Amino acid sequence: MSRRRQLTAPHGGLPAAVESRPVVGLDAAGDTPILREYRAVKERYADAIILAQLGDFYEMFGDDAERAAPILGVALTGRGFGSAGRLPMCGVPHHAATGYIRRLLDAGLRVAIWDQVDSSPTDEDGASLTKGLVRREVTRVISPGTVLDEAFLDPSTPVRCVALHAVQGRVGLAAFDASTGELQLCEIPGGLDSQGVLDECQRLGMAELLLAEGHQPMSLTTPCTVLPPALFDVARGAERLREVTGTATTRGLGLEGLSAALGAAGAILAYCERSRMLLVAGFVRVRERPLGSLMRLDAPTRRNLELLAPLGDGGVGLLQLLDRTLTPMGARLLRSRLQEPLVDVAAIEGRLSAVAALVSERGARQRLRESLAAIRDLERLVGRCVQRIASPKDLAGVAAACRALPACATAASPCASGCHELTTAAAGCTAPDGLGERLAAALVDDPPATSREGGALRPGADAELDALHAASSDARAYIASLEERERERSGIRSLRVGYNRVFGYYLEVPNAQRHAVPADYVRKQTLVGAERYITPGLKEQETIVLSARERAVAREAEVLGELAGAVAEHAAALLSAAECAARLDVSQSLATIADELRWVRPAVDASTVLEIEGGRHPLVERSLPAGTFVPNDCVVSGDAAQIVVLTGPNMAGKSTYLRQVAQIVLLTQVGSFIPATAARIGVCDRIFTRIGAQDDLAAGLSTFMVEMTETAAILNQATPRSLVVLDEIGRGTSTYDGLSIAQAVLEHLHDAPHLHCRTIFATHYHELTSLAARLARVRNARVEVIEEGDSVTFLHRIVEGGADRSYGIHVARLAGIPAPVVVRARDLLATLERDRPLGPRPGASTQMALPLPRAASHPVMDELGALDLDGLTPLAALNKIAEWRSRVTSDESR
Ligand code: ATP
Repeated sequence: MSRRRQLTAPHGGLPAAVESRPVVGLDAAGDTPILREYRAVKERYADAIILAQLGDFYEMFGDDAERAAPILGVALTGRGFGSAGRLPMCGVPHHAATGYIRRLLDAGLRVAIWDQVDSSPTDEDGASLTKGLVRREVTRVISPGTVLDEAFLDPSTPVRCVALHAVQGRVGLAAFDASTGELQLCEIPGGLDSQGVLDECQRLGMAELLLAEGHQPMSLTTPCTVLPPALFDVARGAERLREVTGTATTRGLGLEGLSAALGAAGAILAYCERSRMLLVAGFVRVRERPLGSLMRLDAPTRRNLELLAPLGDGGVGLLQLLDRTLTPMGARLLRSRLQEPLVDVAAIEGRLSAVAALVSERGARQRLRESLAAIRDLERLVGRCVQRIASPKDLAGVAAACRALPACATAASPCASGCHELTTAAAGCTAPDGLGERLAAALVDDPPATSREGGALRPGADAELDALHAASSDARAYIASLEERERERSGIRSLRVGYNRVFGYYLEVPNAQRHAVPADYVRKQTLVGAERYITPGLKEQETIVLSARERAVAREAEVLGELAGAVAEHAAALLSAAECAARLDVSQSLATIADELRWVRPAVDASTVLEIEGGRHPLVERSLPAGTFVPNDCVVSGDAAQIVVLTGPNMAGKSTYLRQVAQIVLLTQVGSFIPATAARIGVCDRIFTRIGAQDDLAAGLSTFMVEMTETAAILNQATPRSLVVLDEIGRGTSTYDGLSIAQAVLEHLHDAPHLHCRTIFATHYHELTSLAARLARVRNARVEVIEEGDSVTFLHRIVEGGADRSYGIHVARLAGIPAPVVVRARDLLATLERDRPLGPRPGASTQMALPLPRAASHPVMDELGALDLDGLTPLAALNKIAEWRSRVTSDESR
C-alpha cells in the first residue's frame, strides 16, 4: 500500500485544514519565545517535520523529534522550555543537513526548513547574542516529489510528482517535474486502480502521488499525499494553469478534452505553491502526453527486457548500454524515450535518420560531443534560477551553456541537411542575446558553490560592492597595524589584537602588564591570566570591517539575485534550447553506440512482418568474449508465420532469443539502430513478455498465479499488431495442467481473430510441436545441439523444426547435482520414456504425445453468435438467457 500522508494545514490560499493537530507539549502558555514562534510554524506546516535552525544545528522538537530520531539515527534528547516543560528534541549539524533531509524524504516524509535569515550568532534558545531573537522563515518545504536542490537529485533521473483525478470512468493524470518545470497531462480510461494508470505512473518515475481525500490509492510503494478534494476542482485547475503559463485559455495550450487532467494539474500546482515553489510563466511548460502515439509497456515487460536495470545482479540494463549522453538533460530524455517507444512509422524514421546522419559523420559527431559536454544541466540550472536557489556556480553554468549552445548548432549542421530532426534541434540551440556575456562579465572565473561568504563577483561588476570592499580593506589594514602601534604606545610587548564572535576585536594584555594599560582602554573581559580591552578607535574600525563585510555579502547576494532573475526572465527560451540540446545529445549517443557496436538501421513499416537477419542480444553479447555470441535470424509475420514454437534443450539460448527479438523491436521503435545485420520491422502497438518465474508474495500471488495473471493480461489486451513472447507457459503446475494450458493459449492466439498477434512461444513441452501440422500459421523452430555419447554441445543456433529432448539431466550434471542423483534421474527418465504417459517416442519428435481435444462448440454458443441483437427486446433477451441456462445445465448434468 502507498504510504499515505494527510495534508492538514491551511496555508497560501488552500482550503481550511481537514484536521488540526496540536504539537505535543508545545501548547502550554508562557513558554519561551522560540517555542512560541515554532508553534506557529508547526501549525502552518502540521504535516511536515520542521527543521528549525538554531545556530549551527537544525533542531526538531516534540512529536517531530520522536518520529525523526530513529529515521535519522540520532539520539533523542530533550530539555526544558519554560513553563512548557521538558520537550523531546533531536538535532543534526547544519553543514551535514542534506544527507539527513534525504533520509527523511526516503522515509516518505515532508520537511519544512525553518531557516535563520539573518546571520547574527545565537544562544541555545535561538536568541541572537546581539539583537534578541533572530529572524527565521520557512524557506523551503521539501517532499519526495518536489525536491529542487541539486544534492537531492540524480542527474539522469526525472523526479515527478503525479496527481490523479478520477472522473466518470477515466482518470486525469498530471505529472510535474518541479526541477525542470515540465507538466505533462493525459487521461486514461478506467479507475484509479486500473492497470493502465498503474503502468503510466510507473514509467513516469513517480516520486510522490497526490490524491483527493476519499479516493483509494493504488497498490504502490510511492509516498502518497492526500489533499482536500476542492483542490482538484477542474475550473480552478484551468485557472491556475492559465495563471502559471500566462495564457488566456487552456485551449491555447492544446488541452481541450482533458478536463479530468486539468483537475489533477490544479492540485499539483496548489501543492507546489504551498511548498513555497515559484511557478512563473515560461518555467511551467504544459504539454499533453501523447499516449496514442506511444507504445504502452507494462511492468513485467519493462523488467524482462531489462530496460532500466539488469535482471541479475551483474551486468547492465539497456539504458546503461545506450547511454553515451553528455548532458543530464540528454540522459533523462534517453531514459524517457526508452520507456516510451513510438508507434508512428514516420516519427520513428525521423529519429533513425538523425542517428544515421551522425553515424556517417564521425568528425561532426565528435565536435558535437565536445560542445554538448559544456552545456551541463541547463534545464535544472534554469529551474534553480527561477526558484531563486541558484548558487554562483549555477549562474556560471548558465553562462557556459549560453556559450556552448551555438557551438552545438554549428557542430550539428554539417549532418543536419535533409534531416528534419537534426535541423530543427540544431536551429533551436540558441542562447538569449547578451545573457551569457552579462553573466560572464559579472562572475569570477571559478565562482564558489555558495553565496554565503561572498567572493563570487568580479571587481568592477558592481560599484556599490567595490566601495564596500575598499572601506573594509582600509579598516582591516588599520586593525592589522594596530598591534604594533599599541605595543609602541603602551610599551607592552606582549599585547596582542584578537577577535571573537561575542566581543569582536579586542586588545589582550597579560595580568603582569596590566599596570601599563593606557587610560583610554576600556576593560571588556577578564580571563585567568589576562584582561581584554577595547578602545573607541578600534570599535569604530571594527564596525566598518564587520558591517562592510556583512553589507558586501548582502549586496553580492542582491546582485546574484538580479542575475538569477535575468536568467528566469529568459526561462522559456533557455528551456526550449535545453530541450533541443537534449535531442541532439540522444541522437549522438545512439549514433556513438551504433558506430562502436556495429549496429544497423532497421527498415520500418506498418506491416505485421518481423524479419531479423543475424540478430544479437545486446546485453548477452556484451557479457560474452568478443565474437562468441551466435547471431540468429527471425521471421514472424501476421499472415504466414504468426506463431513460432521454439523448442530446445535447457541452457540452449531460448530465453535469450525471445528477449533479443523483443529488444530489437523495442530499440527500433525508440529510434535506435539495432544489433543485427539487417531487419524489417512492422511496427508493434505493444510488446508483451511472459518470461521467467517469480512470485509476488507481497501482492498475495504465487509463482504460478503471477504466470497466469501475466498470460491473462496478454490474452485480454494483445491485438493483431502486438508482439508476444512467451517463455514456458504452464511450467508452474502439474504436467497435464501445464501442457493443456499451454496448448489452449497457443490455439487461442492462433484462432481468435482479435489476437492474431506475432508470437514466439518457447517451451519444453515438445508435444506442442505437432500443432504446426494442424494450425496454418504455426511454425516450429529449435535450438541446435550436437550430441556425442554422453556429451552435449550447445550451438545456440536457431533452425527450423522441433526438438524432442530437453537434456535437463545433462544440465543438472553441469550444474553440480551429485552423481548418484544424476544416475537415478537417468534411470527414472528411461522408465518414464518406456511407459510414455507423456512425451514423444524416440524418433517421433513431431508426433503429439497427448492429443488434447479442441474445445467443442456448444449449440448455445452458435446461437449466441448468430443472434440479431438490434431486433431483440429486453424481455425477449431475458427469456433467451433463461432458455440457454436450462439447456446448458441439463447438458452438464447428463
Ligand atoms: P532454459 O530452458 O534452461 O531456461 P534457455 O534455453 O532459455 O534455457 P538461455 O537462458 O537463453 O537458455 O541461455 C543460456 C546461456 O546460453 C546464456 O546465459 C548465454 O550465456 C548462452 N547463450 C544464449 N544464447 C546464445 C547465443 N546466441 N550465442 C552464445 N551464447 C548464447
